Amino acid sequence: AYENSRQKENLAVIGQMAASIAHEIRNPLSALKGFTQLQQEKDMSKDNFYPIMLNEIDRINMIVSDLLIIGKPNGSTRNKAEIGNIIHYVVSIIKPQAVRQGVEIHIQKDRDLPPILCDENQLKQVFINLLKNAVEAMPDGGNIYLIVQAAKDSLVVSIKDEGVGIPSDKIEKLGEPFYTTKENGTGLGFMVTKKIIEEHGGKIGVQSVKNKGTTVDVSLPAGPIVGSNNI
Ligand code: ADP
Ligand code: MG
Repeated sequence: AYENSRQKENLAVIGQMAASIAHEIRNPLSALKGFTQLQQEKDMSKDNFYPIMLNEIDRINMIVSDLLIIGKPNGSTRNKAEIGNIIHYVVSIIKPQAVRQGVEIHIQKDRDLPPILCDENQLKQVFINLLKNAVEAMPDGGNIYLIVQAAKDSLVVSIKDEGVGIPSDKIEKLGEPFYTTKENGTGLGFMVTKKIIEEHGGKIGVQSVKNKGTTVDVSLPAGPIVGSNNI
């Protein structure tokens, strides 16, 4: 009976997910259809709807990429990686957007950081999502502090921004699928981020003050890696 009610619950969750995904994808699709029809009619005039159409296609693409990560089964590859390399890589990816917005990224790292056992691509995705949110929270520029510290059996990466902040009653909404306050957001980034961190045995915490900034702390298990060859 327990199995049965749990299966029912799972089906209900999948049903809700499917409905909200369908809704999110239908929005840009309807927009695309409308603008394609308009473009067809206005091709002789000077109206140009291609930028909007491309934007809507990008949107569908972003939603589908995030969903692919969510759908991916856990327990994929785990290799030894250096957090420093991951951080430098993601900063290089985000830098162009940061520079355009007048956002400066400062990195502070402890000297001796232990390696972590992880799926490196997934962790890159985590820090890209978090850094992107930090940059997007500062449309008029500011500073981001990326602080990497070694704790007892873990590594803690803090991403501190001076952005718009999150009202305290909205913090619990982070990680809810499709919760976004951005015109071009998918509302999936934080959910993906949280899922990956938890699958790595880590934790994520958020502290925020409206109009002052947000700090996201990610802690990941680290240290001498059990079960590897380097005993
Ligand atoms: P998206 O970035 O596509 O909106 P996310 O899941 O990454 O989706 O984030 C959900 C929402 O959480 C954002 O729309 C924003 O309102 C809020 N948020 C997340 N990170 C920050 C941050 N660093 N500063 C302010 N708001 C944030
Ligand atoms: Mg985001």
